Amino acid sequence: MKNNPSLQERVALITGGSRGIGRAIALKLSAVGAYAIVNYAKNLAAAEETLTLIRKQGGNGEVVPFDVADAEGTRKLIADMISRKGRIDILVNNAGTSADGLLVRMKDEDWESVIRTNLTGTYNCCRAVAYSMMKRRWGRIINITSVVAESGNAGQVNYSASKAGIIGLTKSLARELGPRNICVNAVAPGFIVTDMTKSLPEEVREQIKEQIPLAKLGTPEDVAGIVAFLATEEAAYITGQVIHVNGGLYM
Ligand code: NAP
Repeated sequence: MKNNPSLQERVALITGGSRGIGRAIALKLSAVGAYAIVNYAKNLAAAEETLTLIRKQGGNGEVVPFDVADAEGTRKLIADMISRKGRIDILVNNAGTSADGLLVRMKDEDWESVIRTNLTGTYNCCRAVAYSMMKRRWGRIINITSVVAESGNAGQVNYSASKAGIIGLTKSLARELGPRNICVNAVAPGFIVTDMTKSLPEEVREQIKEQIPLAKLGTPEDVAGIVAFLATEEAAYITGQVIHVNGGLYM
């Protein structure tokens, strides 16, 4: 499979693949040949819609529910997948949540739930796939962080801390797993049109647009393209990096 630009015969797990950026990533990976395992937390209908879209474009995959914040459940389900499919070659840690609020008013449970899903969830999935990737001496782990991990954002101390933690995890894991031919990278989207950002008031969207050199919000597909590239053989010498996809919002 050396120098294979497609992902034929690769098995990919995309957490939070039911909607938004995760759905676009699942579709893109499957479009270039990967078997796409679409994880979701609650929204079975949306996950099944992703799978239908995958099949419509000639790909294949399955849907698997688990809460990435639940260490035991995540490990068990991922171990089952690995024994059933023989491997997980590509892990995309995309599942994420937010619960915004200024620090002085933040509820402790909003701090904890965001850290647990975004950061501990990423750790749980990496922990569950790493050994099998090490044995096979091939793997790609792509962690979805955020522009606010580096820029900061008022009202998002929990979210930006979770996403900054993902960058530290990514770089450390890239060092640990590099000798086993496993690349670990992070992709940092800016403002992307999904359910997560659709509640932003129109005037806030306009203010954000004014700060973006490309003068528009991004689409899930803008993120999916670079994720798929990082999964290919052509990206074999890229590890420990944070790739920004933000229209120039943060440089
Ligand atoms: P979204 O539309 O809100 O979708 C979130 C996805 O994550 C859903 O598939 C959801 O599953 C899943 N999910 C949430 N909690 C989960 C859990 N505990 N276990 C498993 N799955 C869980 O979000 P999005 O905008 O596509 O964001 C995707 C990723 O990109 C997130 O990590 C987000 O932080 C990051 N990001 C987004 C933006 C943006 O502007 N949109 C910018 C920077 C970074 P269900 O469908 O079952 O609920």
